[in-house]
Order: sequence, then structure tokens, then C-alpha cells
Amino acid sequence: MEKQAVQRAREAFLAGRSRPLEFRVQQLKSLQRMITDRQGEIATALKQDISRVIFNHTVVHYLAVSKLAQWAAPRHVERNLLTISDQAYIQPEPLGVVLIIGAWNYPWALTLQPLVGAIAAGNAAVLKPSELSEYSASLLKALLPRYLDQELYPVVCGGVSETQELLRQRFDHVFYTGNSTVGKLVMEAAARHLTPVTLELGGKSPCYIDKDVDLRVACRRITWGKFVNCGQTCIAPDYILCEPSIQNRVVEGIRQTLLEFYGPDPKSSPDYGRIINQRHFNRVMTLLEGYTATVGGQSDASQRYIAPTVVKDVPPQARLMQEEIFGPLLPIVTVSDIDDAIHFLNEREKPLALYVFSSNKKVIKRMLAETTSGGVTVNDVIMHYTLNSLPFGGVGQSGTGRYHGKHTFDQFSHHRACLVKSLGMEEVNVVRYPPQNPTFPNVPGLPEILVGGFWISCLVPPDSGNLPTEISGKSGKLEHHNI
Ligand code: NAD
Repeated sequence: MEKQAVQRAREAFLAGRSRPLEFRVQQLKSLQRMITDRQGEIATALKQDISRVIFNHTVVHYLAVSKLAQWAAPRHVERNLLTISDQAYIQPEPLGVVLIIGAWNYPWALTLQPLVGAIAAGNAAVLKPSELSEYSASLLKALLPRYLDQELYPVVCGGVSETQELLRQRFDHVFYTGNSTVGKLVMEAAARHLTPVTLELGGKSPCYIDKDVDLRVACRRITWGKFVNCGQTCIAPDYILCEPSIQNRVVEGIRQTLLEFYGPDPKSSPDYGRIINQRHFNRVMTLLEGYTATVGGQSDASQRYIAPTVVKDVPPQARLMQEEIFGPLLPIVTVSDIDDAIHFLNEREKPLALYVFSSNKKVIKRMLAETTSGGVTVNDVIMHYTLNSLPFGGVGQSGTGRYHGKHTFDQFSHHRACLVKSLGMEEVNVVRYPPQNPTFPNVPGLPEILVGGFWISCLVPPDSGNLPTEISGKSGKLEHHNI
């Protein structure tokens, strides 16, 4: 079944159907129409899967349609002296058949956003939505063939065994979103075919709050980003780092904001979500064992409800600090100063996102210069994700590759190096043909150019004490112009 879907997609790709720009634009518009027409059904599926009400239907960014011709056009590049009258450019071209494996926490965005880039770049794409968000997966499988080319963009549903079967097939790129344990398996499977991968993984995204900051604003923004989708967001702030002197004010700021956002009983708030399944509910509750919640802490297994929870004075070596929480628990770890905070961050794996709250430009500058992460937002959380001009992705253990906007198009394109030479000016080529001219010796220390597969030095006539500035072929002869 999986094999046939991949085969059919490859045949359709090889027939050249997905390549013309008009076809790509038409498919993208059709995808946008599906999202608009089926908003209601999609929202219901999301509610059934993860108790989320909001569906972001701007997923097919207008850029992909309006800028496609520009993105797909040849990108002319600088030429050197030996190619000065030729055409040199980078031609983005489709990779072939790509596999997109999605995760459950944003089941539509995490499959359709990469799909937009794959279509825009002219590929065929096999979609494998997460089996954990099963209503969304079945709806996607039912809807997509009604709007898009059925052979070029098949949806394969299923769990581990179906995904493993898919990964045995040969693809031209695998785009995976999910946890890093499975990420390693995906990379291993892709390596067997030397297939490149994009891994959109997770991890612990830290949030540093400086003492010099408007805490009311900081706490509102952090509370939103942490507890939206019940903490099940890859770039949710995983934990807070701050000095002991402001810890209690941070706790109070979050408590106040929670009251404002979800009322006195978040369980009955239509804006507060649930944990995806029992396994994840148990996993998150186990992380909380042995701690006393400073805010929240209540739970109801029958509804997979966990209240928005804050735990203060969490030791760095605590279980809560060892793995990504991916749920509504917010630990606060105290650090003595900014040096301690930077040291803390750099001792750990490179995060997917880093958040810094401060009014002090020096603090911001140091945090940006002395740490690393896939992306960073200063004085807010999550918002760098929303800017399509910024590449989104991890670094090190938080992932490899990037997407969003034009970056998705580039991720799903091969950047072919093209040099189109004229057959004229053959005399210029004397420098690379044997027999080698003994009057043009290699001069150590001079810049080198690659000619005919050999490195040769830029040439200086032996009787000249000066460096050549230009080799001109206008006269049909190789000439040296001295300074
Ligand atoms: P998941 O359980 O839905 O798994 C992701 C995909 O992997 C699914 O399609 C699933 O079928 C497949 N899969 C699971 N086990 C497999 C196996 N053994 N072999 C092959 N395929 C397998 O999602 P998850 O991993 O629980 O997702 C949560 C994680 O994803 C978190 O770490 C989160 O931070 C990360 N995430 C990252 C991003 C991002 O954009 N960087 C976005 C969302 C989630």
C-alpha cells in the first residue's frame, strides 16, 4: 500500500506534471480553497483530537503563490575572469518525491506548511500525519485527494509500522517533525538511501527573565506561550531562569495572568486544552511527582486535564529539568546573575528556541552573543515562528534544516549550479591546456583559481614585479594588466 503510493507519486513526478509553475500555483490555490471551504470540519477534528478550538487557516502563505515565479527563477551569481562573458546562475529545481512526517500537536500546520513548500518547489510529496491526532489524519486523507492531484500528493495514515514501511522506500528528501528519539531512526533509515533529511525536533526551550524588566508584560507573554495548547507546543518556554530576588513576583505575575486568561477554574474554560492521550497524561504527571506546585497542580485523568502549574525553586538536576516537559508545567530555576544564566544555558543541549526578557540592552546583547539556539525572541515568546522571513528550525539536538516562507521552498529545492559557456574566446583557455606555459609559473601566496580540474595560481609574468588586476579576452589573447 505505502510502496504503491510512493511508486505512483514517483511516476507522476517523472512524467513532469508537478514542474510547470502554473500547475504549482493552481495546486496551492486549491489547497487554500480546501482550508477555507472545510474550516468547520477541520476545527471539529482538532477539537476531537486535542480540544483545541482555534484553527489557523492562513497556512498557505500568500507568498508561496505571489512570489513563486521570483523564487523559482535562476539566481545569477558573480563570475570570475575566465567566465566573464558566460552565464553563471543557480537554478532551484525540484528534488523529486519527498516524504513529510507530521506530529500530533499541530496536526494541520505541521503537515500542510511543509506541503506548501514541497508543491511550490515542484515536488511530489507523500504525507504521513500522526496517528495520535487520528481525526485530523483521517480528515486530511479524505479531503486532500478532492482538492489536489491524487497521485502526486498521497496521504498515508498509520502508526509506527506504516511509517517504518514508508521509510524503507527511497525518497529524495524526508521532512520529519517530532521527538528526537524517532528523529534518529528517521535519519538512520534515510541514510541507507543517502537521502537528506530535515528534522524539526524539540527539547527544552529556556526563558530568561532579567530583573530589569516590566514583569507584568513579561508574565502575560510567557503565560500565553507556555499554556496555549496545554503546553504542547514545540517552542513553548519549557522553564524560567531568573534571580531569586524576582522569583516570587514572577510567580504572582503568572498567577494573575492565568486568572485573567482562564478564570478561577481553567478546567471549565473553553480556551484551555487537554493532554493528547493517557500515555502523555501519565508522563507529565510523573514529572510532577515529588514537587509541591506553587500555582495549579490539580488534574483529572478522566478528562486528561492538568491545570496550568508553576513550580518554584526547582534544582537544576531535578527530573523536571532533564527532559522536554511538553505539558502545562512551568518550573522556575534560580541563577545568581547573567553569567550564571549564560553558563547554565551553554552547559545544556542547544535549544530550539531561547527567550530573553530584559529592558537592559547590554543584557540582551550578551544573551544573543554568548548563547545559541535554533531561534530566539527577545521580550516575547513564540513570535519568531510567525515571521515567514525568518528560517524556523533547530540546531544540534533540536534539529537540522529550516523552513517557513521562502526557506521552505529552498529546503525542498536542489540548488543546481549552472554555467553556460559560449564556444568563443578559445584563446583564453590556453592557461588550462597542456603543454603548460613555463612563463606562467605558480606563484606561492597568490590567489588561486580552479581551471580544468587543477588548482593553478593566478599568473604574473616573471619580469613583472606587480600583481595582475585583470585578464581580458577582448583582443582574443590572454593579457596581463599590471597595476
Ligand atoms: P508523534 O508521536 O506524532 O510522532 C511523530 C511522527 O513519528 C508520527 O507521524 C509517528 O507516526 C512517527 N513515529 C513514531 N514512532 C515512530 C517510529 N518508531 N518509527 C518511525 N516513525 C515513528 O509526535 P511526538 O514525537 O510525540 O511529537 C512531539 C515532539 O515533537 C516534541 O519533542 C516536540 O517538541 C516536537 N515538535 C517539534 C516541532 C518543530 O517544528 N520543531 C513541532 C512540533 C513538535
